[in-house]
Amino acid sequence: MEWPYASPRRFRMPPDHRPIAVAEYNFLDRPYANNPELARHKKVTSYGGNTFTRNWVVDEKEHPTTGTPYSWVRARVLGGKTNFWGRGALRYGPMQFGAASRDGYDVDWPITYEDVKPYYDKVDVLLGCSGTKENLEQVPDGIFQRPSKLNCVEVTFQRAIAKMGRRYIPGRAGVTTDGVLNNKYRTRCLGRGRCGRGCDIGAAFHSPTALIYPARDTGNLTIRPYSVVSEVFLDEATGRAGGVRVIDANTREVMDFKAKVVVLGAGCLDSTRILLHSKSARHPQGMGNSSGLLGGYLSEHVMGPRGSGFIPSRIGTEPTLDDGRPVTPYVPRFRNMADKHPDFIRGYHFQGGGGSYEYPGMAHDIPGFGKAFKSSVRKHYPALLSIGGFGEVLPRKENRVSLDAFVKDAWGIPVLRFDYRFGDNEIRMAKDMADSAEEMLRAAGAENIKIERDLLPPGWSIHEIGTARMGDDPKTSVTDRFCRLHDVPNVYLADAAPFVSGGTQNTTWSILALCWRTMDHLKEGLRKGEV
Ligand SMILES: Cc1cc2nc3c(=O)[nH]c(=O)nc-3n(C[C@H](O)[C@H](O)[C@H](O)COP(=O)(O)OP(=O)(O)OC[C@H]3O[C@@H](n4cnc5c(N)ncnc54)[C@H](O)[C@@H]3O)c2cc1C
Ligand code: SF4
Repeated sequence: MEWPYASPRRFRMPPDHRPIAVAEYNFLDRPYANNPELARHKKVTSYGGNTFTRNWVVDEKEHPTTGTPYSWVRARVLGGKTNFWGRGALRYGPMQFGAASRDGYDVDWPITYEDVKPYYDKVDVLLGCSGTKENLEQVPDGIFQRPSKLNCVEVTFQRAIAKMGRRYIPGRAGVTTDGVLNNKYRTRCLGRGRCGRGCDIGAAFHSPTALIYPARDTGNLTIRPYSVVSEVFLDEATGRAGGVRVIDANTREVMDFKAKVVVLGAGCLDSTRILLHSKSARHPQGMGNSSGLLGGYLSEHVMGPRGSGFIPSRIGTEPTLDDGRPVTPYVPRFRNMADKHPDFIRGYHFQGGGGSYEYPGMAHDIPGFGKAFKSSVRKHYPALLSIGGFGEVLPRKENRVSLDAFVKDAWGIPVLRFDYRFGDNEIRMAKDMADSAEEMLRAAGAENIKIERDLLPPGWSIHEIGTARMGDDPKTSVTDRFCRLHDVPNVYLADAAPFVSGGTQNTTWSILALCWRTMDHLKEGLRKGEV
């Protein structure tokens, strides 16, 4: 509950630690931490590093990457990135699972929304999801707990864009606002707005408090931290996976953990890396890679275009406490719904809100000094509204990761080499994102409108998906419709690697729903003796 001024470094990392800055992704050679500008720092992290996250995000010196720029945020800790995720909890719907049938690009998922819907429902109930029923085709409703409310500037914006046929709805948060049953590690949200620091009362969904500790308490789960998986090894006699090879992160001891079934959930890109590194005579290109597609179709969301302005009806009024909620509101996708945009396929959504936040960041953009400056900051403080876009990156085979032939991480495991670029569709879509942000702010009568048109670096969305895509044909996909490798039937994936395409939605709620579906399939397979 610390105020910004009480923090010795205003939440920045210690002086000898340094996150990579946004612009640096565009010009620093890879591996980033080798650059002289960064090499002198003791620890270098992705842009995700700050006072609160610094012990979660990895040191780029230990975990380098090569190839094209990619701002890959990783957390090698229990619970991974869910410890400090943004809590935007959105479902994919029929429009996402059947995206190719709508516009002819690429392929549909082999499964439909109806296959996954029961699992989204279970996830909502077990973990808690706050939101409002809206009956929208582009982002289905869930089983919601108490929603957050729009504040004054947001209601003005909502009314203005409603006239354009666009919606502005309370954010959907992976947070329990009414409490969940049977979990002593979690408490309902108190609306303190400190979520980015990791919610210390367990209202926000974090894997440890919501899933791992309760599982451990059953006595059926052993957790072994500091265990770096380097590969899945093959049982040559059966052609099945025999278990995982592990390097102890502290002692460097190499151990084989034998298993009947291996479930990889190291995050989309690290699971892919483990499989690429799992080479054998039978799987010379890596395990599960007979199609040659493992690592391909890397996708995420293109970000950067955004806009802000001051809503006149709130200029000069009293500030209110507007950031005491776990997520900001949401403009659901409105492009390529019933209409067809001439310049691009698929779509984007906006996240963002307004009102008085703890720190009046807009003060940096207000000219002047002294008394007049302070008065202007106070006057505009309650009136700011800002939104930023998340656009679907089309899955493309050539956007891929592979193992670097030379560079290894601190444990001697080859690192990922990125070959990833935004395409023409994303660039045209991003232009429209900026244009429509401006159009909506104008419709709301905003003053002093600022529009950012530049793209953020690849990877910025932290929504990587697709590098072991699912499908029914082993020649064109890596896993089957239950996220099981076509080539090795006792290896499953429990992250976003099997996703076929991503829509505009943030990924975590879909990872959880699909994981639950996969585990049900595995459980049934084990019961029947088929796995
Ligand atoms: C700041 C931030 C904001 C975000 N906001 C949102 C949001 O609003 N909505 C949303 O849906 N998503 C959001 N995300 C993304 C979200 O955090 C991820 O989608 C989610 O955490 C992915 O879960 P995962 O289990 O697949 O991977 P991770 O959370 O990355 O977990 C992977 C785990 O695997 C472990 N691991 C990796 N490699 C190895 C190895 N070789 N051996 C052993 N263990 C290994 C790691 O230690 C980690 O525990 C955000 C992320 C960040 C960082
Ligand atoms: S607002 Fe965020 S930090 Fe505060 S209780 Fe709710 S989820 Fe936790």
